[in-house]
Amino acid sequence: MNYKEGTIYSGFKLENIKDLHEINSKGLVFTHEKTGAKLIKISNDEDNKVFAITFKTPPEDSTGVAHILEHSVLCGSKKFPSKEPFVELLKSSLNTFLNAMTFADKTMYPIASKNKKDFFNLMDVYLDAVLNPNIYKEKEIFMQEGWHYEIDKETDELKINGVVYNEMKGVYSSPDSIISRASSRSLYPDTTYGNDSGGSPAVIPNLTYDYFVNFHKRYYHPSNSIIFLYGDGDTDEELAFINDNYLDEYSYQNIPPNLGVQEAFEKPKEIKMSYGISNDDEVNNKSYLSLNYSIGRALDRELVLSFEILEYILLTANNALLKNKLINSGIVKVVTGRFEGGIKQPYLNITIKNTDEENKASIINKIDEILTDISKNGIPEDFITGAVNRKEFELREANFGGYPKGLIYGITVLESMLYGGEPFLNLEYTDIIKSIRDKSSKGYFEGLINKYILSNNHKTIISMTPEKGLTEKTEIELKEKLKDIKATFTEEYIENIKKDEEKLRKRQITPDTKEQLDTLPKLTLEDISKDVEKITLVEKNIEGIKTLFTPMFTNKISYIKLIFDGRVINKEEGQYLALLSFLLGRINTQKRSYEELTNAINMSTGGISYSARSFYKKDNKQDFVPAFVVNGKALSAKVSSLLELMTEVVTETSFEDDTRILQIVREIKSRYEGAMVASGNVLGSLRVLSYMSPRGYFEDSIGGIGLYKFICNIEKTLESDPDSVTNKLREIADSVFNINNLTISFTEEDENISLIEDNVQILKKGLIDKQVKNQDFNYKLEKMNEGFLTQANINYVTLGGCYLDKGFKYSGNMRVLNTILNFDYLWSKVRVEGGAYGVRVNLSKDGFLYFSSYRDPNIIKTFDAYKGTVEYLKSFNATKEEMVKYIIGTVSKLDVPSNPDSKADKAVVEYYAGYTEEDLIREREEVINTTLEDIKAYGNLIEESLKDNCIVVVGNESQIRSTESTFNHLENLIK
Ligand SMILES: [Zn+2]
Repeated sequence: MNYKEGTIYSGFKLENIKDLHEINSKGLVFTHEKTGAKLIKISNDEDNKVFAITFKTPPEDSTGVAHILEHSVLCGSKKFPSKEPFVELLKSSLNTFLNAMTFADKTMYPIASKNKKDFFNLMDVYLDAVLNPNIYKEKEIFMQEGWHYEIDKETDELKINGVVYNEMKGVYSSPDSIISRASSRSLYPDTTYGNDSGGSPAVIPNLTYDYFVNFHKRYYHPSNSIIFLYGDGDTDEELAFINDNYLDEYSYQNIPPNLGVQEAFEKPKEIKMSYGISNDDEVNNKSYLSLNYSIGRALDRELVLSFEILEYILLTANNALLKNKLINSGIVKVVTGRFEGGIKQPYLNITIKNTDEENKASIINKIDEILTDISKNGIPEDFITGAVNRKEFELREANFGGYPKGLIYGITVLESMLYGGEPFLNLEYTDIIKSIRDKSSKGYFEGLINKYILSNNHKTIISMTPEKGLTEKTEIELKEKLKDIKATFTEEYIENIKKDEEKLRKRQITPDTKEQLDTLPKLTLEDISKDVEKITLVEKNIEGIKTLFTPMFTNKISYIKLIFDGRVINKEEGQYLALLSFLLGRINTQKRSYEELTNAINMSTGGISYSARSFYKKDNKQDFVPAFVVNGKALSAKVSSLLELMTEVVTETSFEDDTRILQIVREIKSRYEGAMVASGNVLGSLRVLSYMSPRGYFEDSIGGIGLYKFICNIEKTLESDPDSVTNKLREIADSVFNINNLTISFTEEDENISLIEDNVQILKKGLIDKQVKNQDFNYKLEKMNEGFLTQANINYVTLGGCYLDKGFKYSGNMRVLNTILNFDYLWSKVRVEGGAYGVRVNLSKDGFLYFSSYRDPNIIKTFDAYKGTVEYLKSFNATKEEMVKYIIGTVSKLDVPSNPDSKADKAVVEYYAGYTEEDLIREREEVINTTLEDIKAYGNLIEESLKDNCIVVVGNESQIRSTESTFNHLENLIK
């Protein structure tokens, strides 16, 4: 199709066409004639199509109205009146991405799919959801997703519940997130960024239903929208669909005024805050200090990109100048920081953790002193060159982990358009990188430090101190407040609360009718591909080294993994692999300081990372391969430099500098303390699995609570007897990095296999060549019921068992079971009725079953819900049509597209497990052929597996203590 500027296509006038050669695409900018809605299409040959509709939604307070609305519009609409079309789509569509996100100033509703029919279905449901939601007719949606009063049946107490209310209570339980959310609020108090769009738990109950629906009226109108399309879809068809089914009914509505701007402060502001710790906790070393600097405007692309680079140079690189100088001065232990460029007024943050209030003035002075020194004496040239190269590699590779490319480009487009900028401003980078590179040797970055950090008065200093018992105090105050509120209620009003609650409960437990469900668009089994996406893995022997070659299109980038089998050390030392992974690349080698090493890596590669991990074996829970993996990537032309650097790091790292090692250990420790509150579900699941298999035990010891305990011990030993740690590290490195236990994984175009063949000598020359003998990794296991106490207001509740032990084997239809339990039973029991933010069950391929909840207000109630799956499954019933839905929703998860790096990783994991292509084909067939009887039969598997009764709860101290009999071990890890 030949598009012409100025022409109208289905009600959309084409304003502008642009070649976006850096991302191999064409950009089209349309304006909808009737409503003024903007529509951007990025057209290319990618089959993973993306659609998103976004509204500017600047909140005026911290009631979380935008966030609650984001949840609520997905709970039924005019055309699709079922209770949760969103969840229906999660379980029954071929989406590769489906979600909704509330930002500080906008709300985005994106979907992605490779299947055309599915793509249009998803667009239909999302457009109807945002434009015609049922929130006007059903107040219960607001009550459920936002907040509502409840009268406790036993105590008659007044209480508050709601999904977003609980979600934000979880967020506000973590001191890390409290301090980070305070940055933009402190800098821009007179603008929308002065509010928390997610909602502050203390303020959420001020939100009224009327305000909530009016917010929708005001902002969710096509005139206030930006529609985004991406991929190989037919643009004409897409425009016609959007216009004919939705936009055509609307006329223009006044767009709410643009986002305001915060005038620069005359002088810096100081703010004090506090957060709760337990009465038995130490107060020392638990204060935070956060410095925030307003940095220009989002539309100044060069400035934003420069600060992304400067953030790396000052705060996040291994050799980050400000961070390392601060830590070396001995005045602080942990420094983090970030640059936020995605809001109208960007800012730079520097956060100091684990300090004390009285050090504040000296830390601030030290920061100024260091920055003044850097801006006067200059940043080393190699450092700048490396940092700019690294940024350029990142932009070229466009590796967004599990997220569809189109989604990230959509967000990037919004980050200029929302503030009145050209849509494709942020997608073009070649000229800007060149301009930055040209200026960089002439004091450019040093000048930025001076202007935007040292001489900037638009800055805030936030200090946050720990307060013993604050969490309990807040809980008691809320109780008192609710008691007072209740005292003002008439009896009639209380009866109304009970009635509303009853109505809500009824809505929650009443299943959708067949008519309601039938409104949702459906796919049939014919719509799904029967073929397994094939990733070729060729096993080769290159000069005696086993090489796993995964040929594919990589856009001129080579991906290399060096996989060292960890069985050459003994099992008690397994945790040192994790410690090594934190240290390598961040400490000196014989040849270079770690600063020089980092620069060299940035100059000629796309980065090298290190990890301790393990590989499972198919249908065998006793056997596994513990490993140390070095991951590297570089432009194809730079493979030899990449291999040289990888070899240098593993063979020549020097463990002399125990002070540096201690600094890194403290940083890791602090990171895990944050995880205890923010992602206790991950730690809980790892812990439950550690009771049941040697591999589970190993995984916990290198990445879970087991690791945290080890790191705490290492910190102590480094303080008293550093040599014992450094000697051990040297010994482990000498055993592990050996040519005889190395496997290489190489990912490149088919014809580029020679790149590894020609360069393998580099490894052979560098690595030790010693005979190896494999040790056994059979850990002694013990089934436990552990409770880990934190100051969080919420819990992470985990329950698990081993099905392999009970005589069951993995089958593809377990994946369908996961879909059914996650999106039907558990979703309604634990999320909708229980108020937890998230919950899932996993029947893993390697033989285990575990349930885990996320930001959960309950403990016992959740365990009961988990155990209830047995009865649920035994009496499970579904029509053939419903089974097809579940199957399609499951297949979509098998087909999530990914980047070369993750494809290769998947192939390597399957190789180690011992899966053949036939296994994968059979698995897909098992998914597709799953029957009702298969699902019902799993009631028995779950019943048997749960006899293992492996329990872990990470969460609220008083709640765990009040259910003490559930546990045989309680522990407060963060003292
Ligand atoms: Zn949410």
